[in-house]
Amino acid sequence: MKKYVIALDAGTTSVRAMVFDLEKRQFIFTAQQEVGQSFPQSGWVEQDASEIYFKASYVLNSCRKAVSEHDVAGIGIANQRETVVLWDRETGEPVAPAIVWQCRRTSEFCASIPKEMREKIAAKTGLPVDPYFSASKIRWLLDNSSGARELLKCGRLMAGTVDSFLIYRLTEGKSFVTDHTNASRTMLFNIHTMDWDGELLNYFQIPRAILPEVRSSDARMGETRLGSQTLPIAGVAGDQQAALFGQACVNRGDTKVTYGTGLFMLFNTGETCVRSESGLITTIGYTLGKRTRYALEGSTFNAGSGIQWLRDGLGFISSSAESEPMAASVPDAGGVYFVPAFTGLGAPYWRSDARGLFSGITRGTTRAHLVRAVLESIAYEAKELSVCMEKDSGLKLGCLKCDGGASANDLLMQFQADLLHIPVDRPKERESTALGAALLCACALGLADEDTASSMRVRERLFLPSENKKKFDELYLGYLQAVRRSLL
Ligand code: ADP
Repeated sequence: MKKYVIALDAGTTSVRAMVFDLEKRQFIFTAQQEVGQSFPQSGWVEQDASEIYFKASYVLNSCRKAVSEHDVAGIGIANQRETVVLWDRETGEPVAPAIVWQCRRTSEFCASIPKEMREKIAAKTGLPVDPYFSASKIRWLLDNSSGARELLKCGRLMAGTVDSFLIYRLTEGKSFVTDHTNASRTMLFNIHTMDWDGELLNYFQIPRAILPEVRSSDARMGETRLGSQTLPIAGVAGDQQAALFGQACVNRGDTKVTYGTGLFMLFNTGETCVRSESGLITTIGYTLGKRTRYALEGSTFNAGSGIQWLRDGLGFISSSAESEPMAASVPDAGGVYFVPAFTGLGAPYWRSDARGLFSGITRGTTRAHLVRAVLESIAYEAKELSVCMEKDSGLKLGCLKCDGGASANDLLMQFQADLLHIPVDRPKERESTALGAALLCACALGLADEDTASSMRVRERLFLPSENKKKFDELYLGYLQAVRRSLL
């Protein structure tokens, strides 16, 4: 039996290929290449999709040199979501720079969408109208790229997210596909009918013919050559959804949070598509064959970035890891709260005008208190999202699975458990996104199923909550007050 699968993780700042050993249940090799971004105007973010493809090919080939391609069963993909690429069907060449998920160039257009249409969009796609999602980005390219218009006229234009473009190129133009999770981020996909929505395509004037076929997250997407082998590309999901699967969040109520630059929380709502009344996004968690798992998602723009600011902006600490001993040098934050609204507040507030603040400073406040307050703000953000998730779904969180850079911080994880009053479960393998892609690939190829895939996740440590519920509830109320001030 072939014992490896490769996870191709096409992130925003880097592309990685990681070889997962199905017998040892761990990654045994990683190759990584940084990917450039350009910022041609304020609020604009672009990438060169060809660069993403060439770097993906490069890291895949590095895997081939590390392990024999004869032992590789297939390639799974996890990718940055929402980013849009338009390309030529005949040459596979992008017609314009890719518009990256962070890009705000379509803010005005999105703001002009009438209320009635916004409600329709939310009901059909689970998404609030925002430049973040792909639809307005595709519209912008159709309006502003003469190359795109020319190709559209002669039936050669293709549009898709990063997964679609990579698969198209890796299969030498044979497969034009995406998966349900990526489609669910476009604002064009109806998450109830599980198809592109005619009315929305009409509204955004995007022809259906330029969009890929949508398949399940565990589908076979095509074949690519790796060395002397032809390998299936099978198993595809957007990065956060792949992390949900990699964290074995396969049951209703299972929740994972990724503590990176920002914070991403996904809550599996099972076969029920829950509409959020609290400012969360409804999205597709993953699909296996005909089975759909829905999720509620809350994302904040800033979490670990607060720690980066302490390090690079203020020089309070010399490394991110130093935030832990510094915070531990005081028993608590001494009444100080920090709201990390550097670029506004994301879920559940969606207020781009909010700005960061420290509150509760006294003459006795030390650097350690400030550092601790910044660290604690990350846990408060997750608490806010969990409250919304429980309210929207009527379910209770039983346990929180964590990953991402800041999950290495024991003090933060303990504080998180105390604040949520539930255990926080940290896995040995923190690369949950890549693990999810590898496991979806294994499922697609019949080498695993949902249960065996879940068993591949190994716990490293469980942080149990303190008995003193009241103390942490009071602390949380203090944070909510600080947030209110940042919104003034
Ligand atoms: P991204 O994928 O968004 O770049 P990562 O998952 O690599 O993020 O996490 C990096 C973030 O985690 C940085 O903002 C960094 O400051 C923070 N971080 C890393 N290690 C620690 C730590 N030990 N304590 C607190 N924050 C940390």
